[in-house]
Amino acid sequence: MKKVYLDYAATTPTDPEVIAAMEPYFFDKFGNASSLHAYGQEAKKALEDSRQSLADFIHAKPEEIIFTSGGTESDNAALLGVAYALEKKGNHIITSVIEHHAISEPAKFLEKKGFKVTYLGVDKEGLVSAADLKKAITDKTILISVMHANNEIGTLQPIAQLGQLAKDKGIYFHTDAVQTVGHIPINVDELNVDLLSLSAHKFYGPKGVGALYVRKGTRLETFMRGGDQERGRRASTHNLPGIVGLARAVQLCQDKMASEIKFQSALRDRLIKEIPLKIPEVRLNGHAQQRLPNSVNFSIKYIEGESMLLSLDLLGIACSTGSACTSSSLEPSHVLLAIGLDHETAHGSLRITLGRWTKESDIDYLLEKLPPVVAKLRAMSPLYEKK
Ligand code: PLP
Repeated sequence: MKKVYLDYAATTPTDPEVIAAMEPYFFDKFGNASSLHAYGQEAKKALEDSRQSLADFIHAKPEEIIFTSGGTESDNAALLGVAYALEKKGNHIITSVIEHHAISEPAKFLEKKGFKVTYLGVDKEGLVSAADLKKAITDKTILISVMHANNEIGTLQPIAQLGQLAKDKGIYFHTDAVQTVGHIPINVDELNVDLLSLSAHKFYGPKGVGALYVRKGTRLETFMRGGDQERGRRASTHNLPGIVGLARAVQLCQDKMASEIKFQSALRDRLIKEIPLKIPEVRLNGHAQQRLPNSVNFSIKYIEGESMLLSLDLLGIACSTGSACTSSSLEPSHVLLAIGLDHETAHGSLRITLGRWTKESDIDYLLEKLPPVVAKLRAMSPLYEKK
């Protein structure tokens, strides 16, 4: 059976060149970067070279990079780290209603600990407004965290503008850039951010490794205490194979980014144009232009996202739906509700995300298989019948 992977926003396959770069660090270069002998020094050099590569990639300084176990840890470290470092200065944090759980859960935790959190709404295209942010800032605000691109609908936020507002008021600004690093150019100075989270498995690196960029001078309380790795800011023996893999992934993205953006956005635009021509009553979720080059999300009325996914899976196509199905409840996506969809429409969403190995023929296959899947499910749908 043909197999088509169109879920690159969930995770990407690790690039074989990344695996080749990592391999020696499991074998003869297995040293601990904190050891003083030759093995340790070799590991230390690889660690610092990797740090330099990542810093160059996002236009930061090497000492501003903290390696972590991934996006979730970076997000938690940023929120909790700033909150606890600045709690004497203020107790107010601003974020948005469409953040990933890696931000919204630590935000809720901080609320339980006495912090006040303002959740900014978004417009129907998923954009946070600078005017709303300005209004929400108080003299107690210590941190603003707004994601760079949304993982479900792909909308890109005007981070440079929002970051400038924070900068003017002397408030730290964090962005979760897990969906953008490796996919579009990132410059921490142009974005006006003090902290930025990234994760290697979203850009063809290994799972379980990421980084937090922390602008020099930013106060951050450590939440992983132990050894003095990462200048005492994140204890634990370095995941050297992972870090070397992250750095190799970064170099490959640097080389390939321009052509990947061009190719993937052309395929994305083909989907945006052709899906509504082939399937009646669909709507594109997210901003029409200000969006990730590799991501589309459609609401396909009268059917459940899960049924669509399972039917496509039987045909070898892997996509995603915004409605997260947990064992106890069927909650529609908080992002789709936030952009104003009703519960019923929010349940019928399909996210298609492209990447390095997506071919034009994969899109042909999806465009051939999706319309009959939708027609069949609609024929069985009581919602469609009622209409
Ligand atoms: N933030 C965003 C926007 C994401 O899409 C993800 C992963 O899905 C994460 C954070 C969490 O990253 P990780 O899987 O590396 O913990």
